[in-house]
Amino acid sequence: MDAGLRRELEAKVYAGERLTREDGIALYESDDLVWLGRLAHHVRTEKNGDRVMFNVNRHLNLTNVCSASCAYCSFQRKPGEKDAYTMRIEEAVRLAKQMEGEQLTELHIVNGLHPTLPWKYYPRVLRELKAVLPGVNLKAFTATEIHWFEKISGLPADQILDELMDAGLESLTGGGAEIFDWEIRQHIVDHATHWEDWSRIHRLAHQKGLKTPCTMLYGHIEEPRHRVDHVLRLRELQDETGGFQVFIPLRYQHDFVDSADGKVRNRIQAQTTMASPAESLKTFAVSRLLFDNVPHVKCFWVMHGLSVAQLSLNFGVDDLDGSVVEYKITHDADSYGTPNTMHREDLLQLIQDAGFQPVERNTRYEVVREYDAPISLAERRSVPQQVWA
Ligand code: SF4
Repeated sequence: MDAGLRRELEAKVYAGERLTREDGIALYESDDLVWLGRLAHHVRTEKNGDRVMFNVNRHLNLTNVCSASCAYCSFQRKPGEKDAYTMRIEEAVRLAKQMEGEQLTELHIVNGLHPTLPWKYYPRVLRELKAVLPGVNLKAFTATEIHWFEKISGLPADQILDELMDAGLESLTGGGAEIFDWEIRQHIVDHATHWEDWSRIHRLAHQKGLKTPCTMLYGHIEEPRHRVDHVLRLRELQDETGGFQVFIPLRYQHDFVDSADGKVRNRIQAQTTMASPAESLKTFAVSRLLFDNVPHVKCFWVMHGLSVAQLSLNFGVDDLDGSVVEYKITHDADSYGTPNTMHREDLLQLIQDAGFQPVERNTRYEVVREYDAPISLAERRSVPQQVWA
């Protein structure tokens, strides 16, 4: 990047001006990671000070049986496959009962597109889970699942969302977005939910008063321009509805798992590598700089490892997800030694050791508890430091 363009971009960022598509592509072309981090950190600090939010949540996947076969997905199983599973409602309730007393504020539920489960299963399971965990926010279903419920029930999304909200739904999840540009999407996504339906369903959820996250799956066969286009579509929708609370760049994962049948389900890993830590940090930074109207950028540490998660706090990220005891979707595709268990105390140490103040939030980003500001460097270094994976 020439010095003139660099100065121009800096001036825009410090003046709080909205960046364009060309600006976003130019930022991705820069190899100066420290510079990108400094710009993103400025924006992040303007919006969120030195706070890092997190929530104490658990993930629940009711079924891994899916009618689709997305090329990047190692989670889905076909009916009858050895490790295919579908929970009876009683089983989901039994698992929820085991979570009582964990001081959770959120249960995060996403599933395969099951070919034969009736639509009524989903509001019933939410209602039963809410009865067991009344103080816990139910954040459930991707827009792809809501679109699937339309297909299997014959009902419009309007009625589906009303019924799910009546049963306890408090937020949709942000999944199913992947990369919206058809040039890429046609090669990786195998279901019928594309930008038109994904945005229709989130718009509708926002009109009903739900707040939702938005995501992007990066680091596979897309190019930086596709990431920029993806973010700008979401930014435009956010201008219209204001319903997105957070943007979550999700790092594409290879499938290294020896599954029960020895199959590798991921069909694109021969064509691509995974995003490096530097690429991930750049993606966090550029996303923060482009997304002037979404309050938070999240790092889902399960996909990055704890070292990148900690560094990301200086690259635009102000939200870490989460205290996850079990997360099947990434761990079906992970052999990097990322722990699958993190607890509140681990997160506090991770955030404070990076020089930030931890703030526990709920699903709606309301503050549950503020913790002490970062402890001093001298204090941090007076005891041996834990080495993060
Ligand atoms: S990404 Fe979702 S819809 Fe696609 S195959 Fe996997 S579980 Fe099914």
